[in-house]
Amino acid sequence: MNREKSEKLFIEAEKYIPGGVNSPVRAFKSVDMPPVFIDHGKGAKIYDVDGNEYTDYICSWGPLILGHASPVYFEGIQEALQKGTSFGAPTAIEVEVAKLITEAYPSMEMVRMVSSGTEATMSALRVARGYTGRDKIIKFEGCYHGHADGLLVKSGSGTLTFGVPTSSGVTPGTAKDTLVATYNDIASVKALFAENPGEIAAVIVEPVAGNMGVVPPDLDFMKELRAITEAEGTVLIYDEVITGFRLAYGGAQEVLDIKPDMTTLGKIIGGGMPVGAYGGRRDIMATVAPLGGVYQAGTLSGNPIAMKMGLNTLTYLRDHPEVYTEMEENAKLLEAGFKANIEKTGVKAQMVRFKGMTCCFFTDVPIDGYAAVMTSDTKAYTKYFKSMLDAGNLMPPAQFEGIFLSAAHTKADIEKTIADHYQALKKL
Ligand code: PMP
Repeated sequence: MNREKSEKLFIEAEKYIPGGVNSPVRAFKSVDMPPVFIDHGKGAKIYDVDGNEYTDYICSWGPLILGHASPVYFEGIQEALQKGTSFGAPTAIEVEVAKLITEAYPSMEMVRMVSSGTEATMSALRVARGYTGRDKIIKFEGCYHGHADGLLVKSGSGTLTFGVPTSSGVTPGTAKDTLVATYNDIASVKALFAENPGEIAAVIVEPVAGNMGVVPPDLDFMKELRAITEAEGTVLIYDEVITGFRLAYGGAQEVLDIKPDMTTLGKIIGGGMPVGAYGGRRDIMATVAPLGGVYQAGTLSGNPIAMKMGLNTLTYLRDHPEVYTEMEENAKLLEAGFKANIEKTGVKAQMVRFKGMTCCFFTDVPIDGYAAVMTSDTKAYTKYFKSMLDAGNLMPPAQFEGIFLSAAHTKADIEKTIADHYQALKKL
């Protein structure tokens, strides 16, 4: 496959942009090759600047649940653009989006729009601290919650891929308030509560871990987490930036049937535009300025164009619940096909699936948490990634990321990918 134009662009990009990219995993550095530069996408397909077509299993890392350039996103956008792109004053559409989100997530009695997932988690933590008057928070090793200082401690996603789970530039003063527990291990949480009595403002968790590959939650662990935080007066934050409107319309909290105190959202709620949101119990959200003393603001928050694309997407998802059943069917198909290939070829790998979220790990250690994930053979993943790319499948360019499906992926797309997966495994 010829990727000459991408290669040239990357050399040029590296002169002006750190690593040639505006977000680290895009660099394809961990899979040891220059990245593909994208020209456009349509449905489940993405096209690079050299004209190569790939079935896209990244989908912008989650936002594009209806695939690329779906007309659904764009309905009424021309008219909205003509009215103006930003006012720095409230608009009716913000109320509509807030209403839709609070209806889908009953635990979010009030919601504030921001411009990214990072802003959402960062703000939610500030609110939890303001509400409780406590300093410390608990997060889980391998969970990624964006790049705010206090959350770049034993983090996931690109931080794992590039070996900087705790970023430099995070001061010891900040890091000391971030306590780290082990995902799916309630004893590790209990120990931190015992060591820091009355000091923990919040526990933030990905209800289905999606930034160390995909690690399904243990239901008892999640239930106990709810019980402990409730008993301790600690704010339980579900970071549903990936799972929100993806796992189900009502997110992981609907699937697990557990009500967190606060929730963070991102990705899908902007329909491909830069949007995030945080919200929760009314008494907690009442601490946010101008109602209360926790300050949080944004010039472009609730941007009318972003809100319109978000509203279009969410309304479509609300009215088409079959999107979720079809995506899960496709995830099951992918799981069964990949599993069969792994058995046939004898490669040390396994498929993990939780509803529509899947990941192919190159290890035979059962995936129940961070330690198991870290036994994966990243060199094997690199070879596999390249074979898949050359066969026309854009997989996440790192082992520690999940596969993202969209409503635009067809059974035929999945079947071709399964056949390519077999060939890729055979070459390992
Ligand atoms: N939380 C989770 C669970 C995420 O997966 C991400 C991004 N992948 C974020 C927060 C940060 O979102 P953003 O990249 O929009 O800042």
